[in-house]
Amino acid sequence: MTNWVYGFGGGSADGEASMKNLLGGKGANLAEMARLGLPVPPGFTITTEACVHYFSNGNTYPADLAEQVAAGLKTVEGIVGKTFGDSANPLLVSVRSGARASMPGMMDTVLNLGLNDETVEGLAKLSGDRRFAFDSYRRFITMYSNVVLGLSHDDFEEVLDDHKDRLGVTVDTDLSASDWEKVVAEYKTVVERELGRPFPQDPNEQLWGAVSAVFASWMNDRAKFYRRMHDIPESWGTAVNIQSMVFGNMGETSATGVAFTRNPSTGEAKLYGEFLINAQGEDVVAGIRTPQSLTKEGREEMGETAPSMEEAMPEVFAQFVDVVGKLESHYRDMQDIEFTVEQGRLWMLQTRNGKRTAKSALKVAVDLAAEGVISQEEAISRVEPSALDQLLHPTLDPNATRNVVAAGLPASPGAATGKICFDADEAERLNQLGDAVILVREETSPEDIHGMHAARGIVTARGGMTSHAAVVARGMGRPCVSGAGEIHIDEHAQTFTARGRTFKAGEVITIDGSKGEVLDGAVPMIEPELTGDFQTLMGWADGVRRLKVRANAETPLDAKTARGFGAEGIGLCRTEHMFFDDTRIAAVREMILADDEAGRRLALAKIEPFQKSDFVELFTIMAGLPVTVRLLDPPLHEFIPHTDEDIDALASVSGIDAAKLKRRAKELHETNPMLGHRGCRLGVAYPEIYEMQVRAVLEAALDVKKTTGTAPIPEIMHPLVALGLEMKYLRELTDRTARDVFAKAGDSVDYLVGTMIELPRAALRAGDLAEHAEFFSFGTNDLTQTTFGISRDDSGRFLQAYMDKGIFETDPFVRLDQDGVGDLIRIAAERGGAVRPDIKMGICGEHGGDPASIAFCEEVGLAYVSCSPYRVPIARLAAAQAALVSRGGEAREKDR
Ligand code: ADP
Ligand code: MG
Ligand code: MG
Repeated sequence: MTNWVYGFGGGSADGEASMKNLLGGKGANLAEMARLGLPVPPGFTITTEACVHYFSNGNTYPADLAEQVAAGLKTVEGIVGKTFGDSANPLLVSVRSGARASMPGMMDTVLNLGLNDETVEGLAKLSGDRRFAFDSYRRFITMYSNVVLGLSHDDFEEVLDDHKDRLGVTVDTDLSASDWEKVVAEYKTVVERELGRPFPQDPNEQLWGAVSAVFASWMNDRAKFYRRMHDIPESWGTAVNIQSMVFGNMGETSATGVAFTRNPSTGEAKLYGEFLINAQGEDVVAGIRTPQSLTKEGREEMGETAPSMEEAMPEVFAQFVDVVGKLESHYRDMQDIEFTVEQGRLWMLQTRNGKRTAKSALKVAVDLAAEGVISQEEAISRVEPSALDQLLHPTLDPNATRNVVAAGLPASPGAATGKICFDADEAERLNQLGDAVILVREETSPEDIHGMHAARGIVTARGGMTSHAAVVARGMGRPCVSGAGEIHIDEHAQTFTARGRTFKAGEVITIDGSKGEVLDGAVPMIEPELTGDFQTLMGWADGVRRLKVRANAETPLDAKTARGFGAEGIGLCRTEHMFFDDTRIAAVREMILADDEAGRRLALAKIEPFQKSDFVELFTIMAGLPVTVRLLDPPLHEFIPHTDEDIDALASVSGIDAAKLKRRAKELHETNPMLGHRGCRLGVAYPEIYEMQVRAVLEAALDVKKTTGTAPIPEIMHPLVALGLEMKYLRELTDRTARDVFAKAGDSVDYLVGTMIELPRAALRAGDLAEHAEFFSFGTNDLTQTTFGISRDDSGRFLQAYMDKGIFETDPFVRLDQDGVGDLIRIAAERGGAVRPDIKMGICGEHGGDPASIAFCEEVGLAYVSCSPYRVPIARLAAAQAALVSRGGEAREKDR
């Protein structure tokens, strides 16, 4: 026989906290509280399995459910000494939904079930309070009609408002018994009018109506949407809790309230919450009356005059403080609690681990560890790494009014306010004048980098989460909203329109990169704070992690930011970004336009001092730490303009022959540049380019060694290698150049030569590459692209369809595809390691900052992950959690 029903109350329970899957979160914790001997109104839980049975059997209940429910009710009746449906001494119950994870999309609770025209009289007599009895009845009719019968709240509110108007009162508590009686009579008329049948009087019919409504709510649109948003499987089902009522609406010694054992937004270790005297259920959150603070201190802080619970009912309050203290130490985490006081008697109605901001999560974890409630390792696993994002960027004041102009993708977190600007050069100019600007573009390209840097934030109308704008913005730590398709840009008029409004260049907007919203005007912000608890927890994390964390950085500013966030080196320095700078782009173009090697060498000689000084700066900041320098990677055509217009413009300012430019642009044109003449193919075809870069790197390293006494550890990385012989050629080129440099300088530094693994062939033939490469850096952006054969820049067009249809669970460019791409990484690690046991392996690319992907890197045994500077703390924490998991320690508790 299956147990569909689990009882709780009267000091014991059939279930316990660990049975969330079967009893739902609410039911499991009610059982646990009852076991702890806390005052819990007795009741029982119908299991999630009953719900699953219901849906897999054409919406029918298990055959023996009715019997078990009847037995459950009997037990409750025995404990409370009342009988369900008895007109003299009626038991009333609440019917509450409760899935494994708390789900706001589910059915609302029905209170006071079991009331009808007869039992209400019994309740009135028994309590000696007719007002209370009819107040409860009218609440029940409203809730039941709304939740179970599908009527609108408005129908009932109208009736109530009319009554209040007639009586000249504003608050519900001013209505007398006879007022409520009249309201109830009218409510029943409303139901009959709307449904053509009377309000159900049979308590059993009421009960089963409510149970099936809870089950049905599992499949309503709100619940479905919520599940999709939060990856909750439909197969879980929901439990139903049926619990004897306690009444917070029995006069001045009764109340209902909600509490957090610590402050959920700051984490401060102080009881925090609200309550209402003479009220029931959701009155506190419904906003009908203004709730009062629980504590005197809270009341004073809020400048309220109405007494706190501490002042109004000191004895119950003292008991409450004791109970919530017990709950927190029992669950060893901050609790979110619901309670009711019935005529001076405390009743606990719910407890769960409280939702909290990142700031609060940090403080609570650190404090609980300091209090000895949890270990440092548990504290590490309590904080969700990606939530740290909230702390690393300025964010919008949560209390500010938001006037949303357009919505797009949350491409890079943080918030920024500035004047609308449609052009990168103009953004740079305005920035130099001290103006904050938001760069608004159809999409961005490498030519916009300087403007993106100058802007406080970036908005694009097109492009996905891994579009150029998104990747670069995240790297720079600029907030970015990408793919805001509602925005229509008119470059000519220097305006954009969205949702029927037109914004001119220079008008002020704010973007929320964490939400993906563009807002009107300047919205107030709060600055990040990276001291205190943040530092403490990160220190603990650093103590347990095995993976090193590096940053992807090419500018001195990025490198400084990265070190500030605790990066232990640079895992990817893309040298092409250095080429775009105004001072060198001319020489770069000269090199590209050169007719022969001699011409190229001449131009390269002009670039070399710039490259060298870039590296000197970078190496000085990263003194003593490894810096992986990737030699030139993009196809050369990216450095010259494409349209005739742009070419003419360039020709006229630079004096370069326009015709020659056009000819060269045509020559460099490729059908499929992603798979074209790029990566080390440039170095093989034009070795002088790579030679120049290697020289610049090593001379800079020698310089820094001389001036600071500490040599950096350059790791020279050749991109897009596929073949052992390619690697051999590049290794020889590098070593030969190094020998020259060292001979000339009469000094040397240690350096490594390696490759980025970003082609399936490279992964499969990693053994060949390892003959010549001393390190592998998995370039998972390109490796994902080449493994799937999906162009990252075009994936936006169909990715959503794949996600909607459940073919892709997540964007493989955001979360590493551990099955496919991950397999290639495993193979490469194994085959590379077999040939060169001490080969150093890491990952760079977007995945380096994604906690799930970091866990994978730990599993495979890579040496480091490298991510954008602003994700370094996230990676440090995620690496620590991954280390704890692989040691069989604490798995992070996901369901909070
Ligand atoms: P939610 O899941 O939306 O929090 P609950 O099932 O917790 O819904 O019910 C909401 C509120 O209803 C509770 O906080 C409590 O105030 C009230 N409530 C629920 N069951 C009872 C009960 N048996 N007696 C008194 N009040 C109750
Ligand atoms: Mg609710
Ligand atoms: Mg609740």
